[in-house]
Amino acid sequence: MDFPIYLDNNATTRVDDRVLSAMLPYFTGKYGNAASRNHAFGWIAEEAVDLAREQVAQLLGATSREIVFTSGATEAINLALKGIFEAYKNKGNHIITCVTEHKAVLDTAKHIELLGGKVTFLPVKEDGLIDLQLLEDACTDPTILISVMHANNETGVIQPIAKIAEIAHAHGALFFSDATQAVGKIPLNVEQMGIDLLALSAHKMYGPKGAGALYVRRRNPRVKLIPQIDGGGHERGIRSGTLNVPGIVGFGKACELCLEEMKNESDRLSSLRDKLENALLASGDCSVNGSKTARLPHVTNLAFHGIDAETLIATMQNIAVSSGSACASASLEPSHVLKSMGRSDEMARSSIRFGLGRFTTNEEIEFAIQKVKQETHHLRSLSSTWKLHREGIR
Ligand SMILES: *Cc1c(COP(=O)(O)O)cnc(C)c1O
Repeated sequence: MDFPIYLDNNATTRVDDRVLSAMLPYFTGKYGNAASRNHAFGWIAEEAVDLAREQVAQLLGATSREIVFTSGATEAINLALKGIFEAYKNKGNHIITCVTEHKAVLDTAKHIELLGGKVTFLPVKEDGLIDLQLLEDACTDPTILISVMHANNETGVIQPIAKIAEIAHAHGALFFSDATQAVGKIPLNVEQMGIDLLALSAHKMYGPKGAGALYVRRRNPRVKLIPQIDGGGHERGIRSGTLNVPGIVGFGKACELCLEEMKNESDRLSSLRDKLENALLASGDCSVNGSKTARLPHVTNLAFHGIDAETLIATMQNIAVSSGSACASASLEPSHVLKSMGRSDEMARSSIRFGLGRFTTNEEIEFAIQKVKQETHHLRSLSSTWKLHREGIR
């Protein structure tokens, strides 16, 4: 076993060796600019980008012309929200999103408010799911867009995407989903689910950092989008800038592998996740944050009652886990996701996310179970308030 054990696959994933092999030639011999029209260097790069575009599209059930490459999901989200707001502002200025979204969505929505948009931030229920009736009620005449993430990055909770899309369309609004955590992990099809725009990122699915995409529907309806990065007219004018060819090649390969291996991988990981979760729940004073049914197969977010998660994480130096989103953990605020689900500050501060991945082994999970049990027991034995609390319960 190699230490530390990596159980933070929602923050980022290791690049699969097969992805790396696919990428390497595009740093060396095949270093052309995909926009160079006059020589083989350019043609070779363009051909590789075309293949990757096809691989990404296949994983989503889209066509390759509907894929716009970006630097990652954050950029794709900015392009979707700001690009739609600008393109449809004559129709309306109202956008609906949800309080448990990733900061990339929440902060972009706040930016749109500064530009004159009206944004409704829907609450969630205790299990992390949105209330479809509240969504329905929030739709008004000028609602142009509903933006709800597919799977949550902290809890793994999966929203009812197809139903949300249906509600959006019934009110003449478009539907965008930040599917960064779901793509490649669970079956997803933009046609069947009625998704109009969708953001994804290579580094959450065993591809490289710095590559991602926005899916933009081209028919039924054809979605209009105002570019947010102007320049040489790359990506059909929607996103200018020289393409990150090696990154895009790796992204495409990562999509192909996920499509092939998703079923086996999710079966394997959900049984390992359940083993970890059940063992820790059985040891007591531990509970699951979020729905246990509408949830990604490889994630569990657990509250260790009476324990400060940061302290627990620091004592387990050979296990890499996190107390929430890597993007928000620079701040010491308790998780906005767990707080929105009605958890107290104390409960949110006692919670840890375990994110399993393609390279997680049974041996590692067994080690993690022992380590977490041992350290939680130790920390509680040191805590006088915990002893008082336990006596109070008895
Ligand atoms: C990681 C993540 C993002 C940001 O993706 P980047 O490619 O790192 O910009 C956005 N949304 C969710 C749900 C994520 O998990």
